[in-house]
Amino acid sequence: MIFKCNNCGGIMVYSPEKEAMYCEHCGSVDSQSVVTSENMTSCVNCGAPMEITDYTSATKCHHCGCYTIFEERVSGQYTPHLVLPFKIGKEKAKEIIKEHAKKNIFVPYSFYSDAYVDTVSGMYVPFWMYDYDANYDYHASGKKIRTWVSGNKEYTETKIYSIDRNMDIDFDKLPVDASIKMKDDVMDLMEPYDYSALTTFAPLYMSGFDGEVYNFTPDQLELRAREKATRYSEKLMNDTLVGYTSINTTSKNLNLQPSGTNYSLLPVWQYNYSYNGKIYEFYVNGQTGKIVGELPTSGKLKLLYFLVACGLFSVASYLLWMLLEVL
Ligand SMILES: [Zn+2]
Ligand SMILES: [Zn+2]
Repeated sequence: MIFKCNNCGGIMVYSPEKEAMYCEHCGSVDSQSVVTSENMTSCVNCGAPMEITDYTSATKCHHCGCYTIFEERVSGQYTPHLVLPFKIGKEKAKEIIKEHAKKNIFVPYSFYSDAYVDTVSGMYVPFWMYDYDANYDYHASGKKIRTWVSGNKEYTETKIYSIDRNMDIDFDKLPVDASIKMKDDVMDLMEPYDYSALTTFAPLYMSGFDGEVYNFTPDQLELRAREKATRYSEKLMNDTLVGYTSINTTSKNLNLQPSGTNYSLLPVWQYNYSYNGKIYEFYVNGQTGKIVGELPTSGKLKLLYFLVACGLFSVASYLLWMLLEVL
C-alpha cells in the first residue's frame, strides 16, 4: 500500500510537524489516494525488488524512495489496535542527535556530520500494552520510636501501630516491547511515552517510516508485564508507609487480574554509526526526543587535546620563567 499525491503523483508521507499527510514534492496536505497491492517482493511504485524480513510491515524502496506498507502485516492477526504517531520529525531528530554529540568534545566529527546523521530512520516498534485490575492487601506492624532528654535523664517512647492497607490499582496500558530487534533495556530506557496520545491505528501513520510486526505473542511477554505491575504496586504501597522507624511485614498479597491487551506501535528514531569496527546504536524517542545510546569517542582526538594541553602548559611555563628572569 502506498499513498500518492492527488495533485502531483508524488508520495505522501505522514508529517509529525503538520500532523497530517504531506507531499514532499509539491507541498500538498491531506490530498492522497491509496494504491494497494498484494505483492510484497517488488515496489508498487517502480517495480524494483524490495528488501524485507519476515517481520517487516513498512519500509522504503531503495530505488525510488517511496514508502510502502504491507497490508497483510497490518491486518488480520497483525492489525495494531493503537498507534502513537511520530511527534518529532526527521530534521528535529537530527538536530537532537547533533546537539547531544557536540557536548562531548571527543566524539568524532563524522558522527554528527550531515551526511551521516541523514541516515537516521524512523521506526514503529511493536508493543503489547497490558491492562490489569489489581488488588494489594498488605498487613504489617510499624514502630515509631521517639527519644528525648529531660534533666539528666534520657527517655525513649516506643509506639507500635498495626498497618492495614487494601489498595485497588487500575493498570491501564502497561507497555512491553514485542520486538526481537530492539533490545529490552533500550526500550525500557526510552520510556516514558505520553500514552494519552495513543490513537486508533490507521496505515497512513506508517507512511514515511519503517515498521515491524510483533515477534512475541502477549502470552510470551506477560511475565515482563506482571513484573512491571508488581514493581509499580510495591512503589505505590511503599509511598503510603511513611513516618515509621521500622516496619515488619506480616502478610502481603498482590492479585493481578488481566483485563485486556492492546497491540500498539510506538515511534523511535534510530541512528546506526559504524566506528573502528563497532556499530554504535543511537535512539531518539519519536514523541519526547529522549536520547538513548552510547557515543563513540575518538582516541586520536583525545591525543590531540592532550598534546594541545601539554603545549599550552609548556608555553605558559616558559613565559612564567621569562617573567621571573626579568624580575
Ligand atoms: Zn504532490
Ligand atoms: Zn520503488
